[in-house]
Amino acid sequence: MFGMPTNGVDSFKIYRDFTDFLESNFRIDDNRLNKIDINSLLNSINTTTDPTERQRLVEIQMKLIYFYNQAIQERVNNGYQQNDDFFRFYSEVEKQRKINVYKKGNIYVLSAKELDDKELLLSTQAEKLIKEYIPKFDTKLYIIPGIKDNNASHAYRDGKSFLAGGGYKGKELFTLGDDIFSHELGHFILEQLNPKFRDSVSLEAKTIHESFADTVSFLDSAKDKSNREKLNLNNLYSENPVSVHGEIKGTNERIVRRFYTTSDYNKLKEELPEEHILSVPITESIYHVWAHLVENSIKQGKTKDEAVDYATSTIQAIIKKAAEKTDPNLNSYLNSIIQSAPNEELRKLFIQEFSKRNLPFK
Ligand SMILES: [Zn+2]
Repeated sequence: MFGMPTNGVDSFKIYRDFTDFLESNFRIDDNRLNKIDINSLLNSINTTTDPTERQRLVEIQMKLIYFYNQAIQERVNNGYQQNDDFFRFYSEVEKQRKINVYKKGNIYVLSAKELDDKELLLSTQAEKLIKEYIPKFDTKLYIIPGIKDNNASHAYRDGKSFLAGGGYKGKELFTLGDDIFSHELGHFILEQLNPKFRDSVSLEAKTIHESFADTVSFLDSAKDKSNREKLNLNNLYSENPVSVHGEIKGTNERIVRRFYTTSDYNKLKEELPEEHILSVPITESIYHVWAHLVENSIKQGKTKDEAVDYATSTIQAIIKKAAEKTDPNLNSYLNSIIQSAPNEELRKLFIQEFSKRNLPFK
């Protein structure tokens, strides 16, 4: 249809305004679940005798109506694409008449529904993973579980970041495995390491974003004990909990990307120039260097745990360094990875893996 408006409403801009509103109007204590009860709040407009307090409450009520209208507008504009994240959140607020905020330092978990223990733990998990890459950060990060259908997303808006998670078979995706959540955190980590990636819109910048997020995610999978048990020298180049992305823990469900294969960047670019797809040959290359490091360490007499730890921390240091110094284009990122490798042998390995996949590093 011609003349259809293409400029949708920015859901995360509304989330940004809404969380600013929460922080400035309500007391949100650290390390505890803060429950904002809308009904009792609005009821006290009629019972309070203090005119200043009454004024304050009326202003909050007006703001809540304002956000309701924002949610409706977002639904009207974005609903047909299922990009109505704020509407999904706010209709739950309307239904429950509650807003729950758990705060742990700069990390918040936000939901209208009751938050279960696993969802609260997401803040601790997030803090732990982020600190492996960035010891100190002051960007506020909001984790909003249960929003999207079978999907998750990350967005940065003017000094704040948002991770929206979705449901899968009636459960929260962020808590079902380690991949989806650590992938979205990977986007946050990249933007913290290198602000050039914050509002990047080019396909190459988005491709680096996806590969970096998948790399953070597979390295995180490699640290997990139960994943390690399933990992052995015979399955490094086939399906294992580290070499696939998106699986639900303990199952083979919902695998969305594979890193043990060898794909051709040029071919993918012709067929389907989309960032998640184009990122695969980069992540594959990094995964193969990781697997090589595991194999090599075992040959040198290290135990399995020592070998995996060594490979994981080596690759982690390389991608962190590469992310910090790269420009948001593929040639720069691939070369930054090569240059960040600690020795000639690894540099050659990266070049070999990138060449095999026709990645544009020359
Ligand atoms: Zn992503």
